[in-house]
Amino acid sequence: MKTLLLPALPGHPHIDYVGSTLKIEQVTASAVAAEFGTPTYVYSRASIEEAAQRYSQAAQASSVHVALRYAVKANSNLAVLQLLARLGWGFDIVSAGELKRVLAAGGEAGKVVFSGVGKSADDMRFALDVGVECFNVESPSELAALNRVAQAAGKVARVALRVNPDVDAGTHPYISTGLKTNKFGISQDQAAQLALQTAQLEQVQLVGIACHIGSQITTVEPYLDALDKVLDLVEQMEHKGAKIEHIDLGGGLGIRYTDETPPTPQEWLSPLLARISARGFGHRTVVIEPGRSIVGNAGVLLTRTLFLKSTPVKHFAVVDAGMNDLIRPALYSAEQAVVLAEQREGSALKYDIVGPVCESADWLARDRALVLEEGDLLAILSSGAYGMVMASNYNSRGRPAEVMIDGATATLIRPRETPEQLYASERLLP
Ligand SMILES: *Cc1c(COP(=O)(O)O)cnc(C)c1O
Repeated sequence: MKTLLLPALPGHPHIDYVGSTLKIEQVTASAVAAEFGTPTYVYSRASIEEAAQRYSQAAQASSVHVALRYAVKANSNLAVLQLLARLGWGFDIVSAGELKRVLAAGGEAGKVVFSGVGKSADDMRFALDVGVECFNVESPSELAALNRVAQAAGKVARVALRVNPDVDAGTHPYISTGLKTNKFGISQDQAAQLALQTAQLEQVQLVGIACHIGSQITTVEPYLDALDKVLDLVEQMEHKGAKIEHIDLGGGLGIRYTDETPPTPQEWLSPLLARISARGFGHRTVVIEPGRSIVGNAGVLLTRTLFLKSTPVKHFAVVDAGMNDLIRPALYSAEQAVVLAEQREGSALKYDIVGPVCESADWLARDRALVLEEGDLLAILSSGAYGMVMASNYNSRGRPAEVMIDGATATLIRPRETPEQLYASERLLP
């Protein structure tokens, strides 16, 4: 039997070839596709838990108290949130919708950080009523609005100011958030002023400083740069009488999609915590909000090849998943590894893997050497984060099914959407 390992993809510990067959934990990709159809997102419970435990272990290795808050927007399926809630994790949310998911999955409101640049009054009210841990505030207007909503609710909102440290995280412009030209955060000067103003507001209490500099970041340096600026600010604020209980470093640690070599959670966290201790802030709680690095490499998107099509200049594999199912390639020119569920012998051709959606941006991978026949099942690796959560119904396509593998068990955690479901709430004119 031929054993084909994936040496270039060490980020996929529970997704591997056995013989020539792709297995996710103990279940073959082909069996999942036969039972649940395609396109289908498939996640590995063991991979998610292992990634989360790597963060907990990195946190435990230091004397600094670290609060673990999973960024829900990376993958918000209830079963995924449930796994993390059971491990004791809290959550980083960006909408009341995400907060409702967290509560439905068994998460604690008291361990929820509410991020996002545009919170509505209704979202704030709901979050106050259920008692979230902290609002990460991104503008003077938002702070004023939160103060008004909290007054009406008879509550005091715990607040962290999200500063924009103006560092270049070296990532794709659409996923960098810590540059001064980005919409996110408050400039350092403005944050210092705003901290003073919070003292005048009755219904908000300043308890933290937060930053989040981007996503798919593969080096520690930008975090250290941001941290130094954040700690300067904490010093400045405390000098003026503020009491900062926690420092929130955000998320953003990258994963391996093709050949990236991001630091491990340990390699990422330990220099940051060491810097915090060295600068005398070791008694503060440090909040981290990883998303992609928990779920990204724990999921694949299974898709079947419908047609092979050659033009004078290109070979195309038209598959049944499109940009509405996985938008990362179209949105960020993201590269994800693509492998066959059952390896074939033969000579490879270079294919562009494209979907059925009527857009030229509807591609999933480009120039991939594969030995492929019509009907073959493909797995697009590293699809666990920013995959299903960004899926849409464009072209009236129902979103994919989602399946969680746990050892030899495959559980449907969301059925495929039917076309009828898509228009069930629409109305004809009288
Ligand atoms: C998106 C986001 C995260 C998570 O980022 P990842 O790159 O998925 O780790 C964390 N915090 C905030 C505020 C975010 O917006």
